[in-house]
Amino acid sequence: MYTCGPTVYNTAHIGNMRTFLFEDVLRRSLVFLGWQVEQVMNLTDVDDKTIDGAASAGVSLREFTQPFINSFFEDLDRLHIQRAEHYPRATEHIAEMLQLIQALVEKGYAYESDGSVFFRIGEDADYGKLSGFDLSQVRQGERVASDNYDKEDVRDFVLWKGAKEGEPAWDSPWGPGRPGWHLECSAMGMKYLGETFDIHCGGVDNIFPHHENEIAQSESATGKPFVHTWIHAEHLIVDGEKMSKSLGNFYTLQDLLDRGADLRALRYQMLSVHYRKKLNFTFDGLADAGAALKRLDEMRFRLLHATESESEADSVIIPASEKLLQEFGEALANDLNTSEALAALFGFVREVNQAIDGESLKVGDRRRVLDALARVDQVLGVLDADEWRDDEIDGLSDEEIDLLLVERREAREARDFARADEIRDQLTAQGIVLEDTPTGTRWKRQ
Ligand code: AMP
Ligand code: ZN
Repeated sequence: MYTCGPTVYNTAHIGNMRTFLFEDVLRRSLVFLGWQVEQVMNLTDVDDKTIDGAASAGVSLREFTQPFINSFFEDLDRLHIQRAEHYPRATEHIAEMLQLIQALVEKGYAYESDGSVFFRIGEDADYGKLSGFDLSQVRQGERVASDNYDKEDVRDFVLWKGAKEGEPAWDSPWGPGRPGWHLECSAMGMKYLGETFDIHCGGVDNIFPHHENEIAQSESATGKPFVHTWIHAEHLIVDGEKMSKSLGNFYTLQDLLDRGADLRALRYQMLSVHYRKKLNFTFDGLADAGAALKRLDEMRFRLLHATESESEADSVIIPASEKLLQEFGEALANDLNTSEALAALFGFVREVNQAIDGESLKVGDRRRVLDALARVDQVLGVLDADEWRDDEIDGLSDEEIDLLLVERREAREARDFARADEIRDQLTAQGIVLEDTPTGTRWKRQ
């Protein structure tokens, strides 16, 4: 599977991260359902924006992009996004791109003009088949200078951009220049995955023209289908508008961390909305996601402290776990329906809580519950609070404090006041102030 990656001129915002997270969930779901996945994600480290950025910073392209590449990988880790097998950089695949252009020129699909090379769109009979774009609606045959490049037809798009003064450039048979963005993904996709591969993903804004142009270039050069299945994630929006760098209405993961947000909850929030629906980001939504996670954590916590009996009755957990895994897998196989998969999980949580309340857990049931949770968490990546807690560099995380408070409440209910006091002391030592109220215990950091 090929997944369009970041343009590394800036830190990714959480809209970008939604698309990358959707691809992570797709990857994990395919593995859950028994497939083997080989994933490529390109790093766009040469384009107008990276070139402008490097020029204004007065550094080389590589020096300019490297910190953003680093922060991109850091952000993947922060959201527990699994690594792809390949992260090719555009600047390291110029040779493959030139080969592809050469093939297109030889077949009459591309032409040189003034040091640049363009794709001759009029030659491509099925152009528009992905997006439904109707070429005949656009005036043709008119010679125009657009984007400062001279094209035969207004609809033609650039494969190779002739070098401008002071810009980074590579040698080519058409003179020094640099690759166009669309070309990069065709060349690197085919290099790592073959001329035809299974899945290609991106955000919906990639459908046209980016992916349409990738199809045109690749299929015209090889004469073979490029991709079997295209899958695109809808946008993350704020106040009804797409979150984007150009609109300035964006948050990075660091912005959210600075506001004290819990990134585990962000991952959950993103999972809870189907990838083909717009995700409206709000802090209330993030808090709701945190509350849902808390219900899961509490169940796990209660489970650890529940007792198992040796009675003869059948385990209710065995059929409940089987049902969970069945429904969970079916939901994912049905166009990656993560919200339905989570609904199956919460059905299971209810059954487990009932079994704990009714003291009907049988020997081995706690293990069975934990195994089923670990299995679904291979896709969700949010259930293992300990794993996320390890990310916290110092002190107790919010969830850790919440869990300790649950334990303290249960200790008091069991009249184990020594343990309850011990927990209070532990929290006080960490600068956490507790306030017991009639509706429960509140805490704040000093
Ligand atoms: P870029 O770094 O601009 O090339 O974008 C990287 C990826 O993020 C692309 O696949 C885009 O489709 C995706 N993307 C950009 N903005 C959003 C958004 N607001 N919501 C979801 N995905 C987005
Ligand atoms: Zn791409």
